[in-house]
Amino acid sequence: KRKIAVMTSGGDSPGMNSAVRAVVRTGIYYGCDVYAVYEGYEGLLKGGDLLRKMEWQDVRGWLSEGGTLIGTARCMEFRERWGRKQAAANLISEGIDALVVCGGDGSLTGADLFRSEWPSLVAELVADGAFTPEQVEPFKNLKIVGLVGSIDNDMSGTDSTIGAYSALERICEMVDYIDATAKSHSRAFVVEVMGRHCGWLALMAGIATGADYIFVPERAAPAGKWQEELKQVCQAHRKKGRRNNTVIVAEGALDNNLNSITAEQVKDALVDLGLDTKITQLGHVQRGGTAVAHDRWLATLQGVDAVKAVLEMTPETPSPLIGILENKIIRMPLMESVKLTKSVAEAIENKDFDKAISLRDTEFIE
Ligand code: ATP
Repeated sequence: KRKIAVMTSGGDSPGMNSAVRAVVRTGIYYGCDVYAVYEGYEGLLKGGDLLRKMEWQDVRGWLSEGGTLIGTARCMEFRERWGRKQAAANLISEGIDALVVCGGDGSLTGADLFRSEWPSLVAELVADGAFTPEQVEPFKNLKIVGLVGSIDNDMSGTDSTIGAYSALERICEMVDYIDATAKSHSRAFVVEVMGRHCGWLALMAGIATGADYIFVPERAAPAGKWQEELKQVCQAHRKKGRRNNTVIVAEGALDNNLNSITAEQVKDALVDLGLDTKITQLGHVQRGGTAVAHDRWLATLQGVDAVKAVLEMTPETPSPLIGILENKIIRMPLMESVKLTKSVAEAIENKDFDKAISLRDTEFIE
């Protein structure tokens, strides 16, 4: 019987449970045994109770649960070869040779590395005497399939990642609350949202709530000049009768000298304009709570395709990432997406902001 494992890794995101549920049930539907790896890569390294066989009913009700019920963790040991060797030993002991990983680009890079090293790790385990050549014979290759779980929507090549629309919904709801009190007191609010290298959440939330101004990493604000521009825009809106101002700042917002733009600095500019200004840092409420319908169906359809991809893969197939483009669930080589994603960060580091924006293609509005 084919044995498949599913895990969540890196930062949690709403919809991860829907993905795990879909992989478990689709795997069972196709006659496989499905295992959940608890606590991310730590579970692979430790094995035992952290590697559990899942039954159909074990994931009942998971669509409406936030976070990830199988846990996630950052695992330093998996970055080391000896850690990955231990993980390989645990998988072989359980008879598992396929892994569906739902996580960010770090987790998926780790998974692909694990796959490419797999034959040599297995050979070492045999040389060490941990397994006989006969025992490892059915486990010559490891199959890896990636699902992107990330609230930032920061993976290139896919229109949305599992959790991004839930976080966006949460942010909009919070900004609506803030707007109500801001209007009452004629105040300005600076709202800091998540997004270390990707301004998608800030941009989309700004459009959806009608914010006065948005700061993102990709369109870096002119150093030393953005304060004046911001003041002019907010003042113009006030003159038109607006009783409040909302400025959305992505965590990773930059000026074009690559200096961080902080909520404090934005507040100072607005205070300078004579506005009673407050800062709200939304923090982890953006991650929590139940997934919106979009993330539930996205994770479900992608989870189904992840199992199909495992069953169709050959040793030559590059590890696929399941994405969505123009409303169709698609597969693309995982490392190509990771490379494209990294090239956005590189473009920003090189101050080539036009390139950074164009690389975001359909995911970013110029
Ligand atoms: P997020 O975008 O939410 O931060 P992520 O998956 O990018 O998610 P990371 O902290 O980068 O989060 O990675 C999660 C885990 O994946 C790490 O703790 C580590 O165990 C593993 N990992 C990441 N990068 C590598 C790598 N290059 N080699 C091996 N393992 C890795």
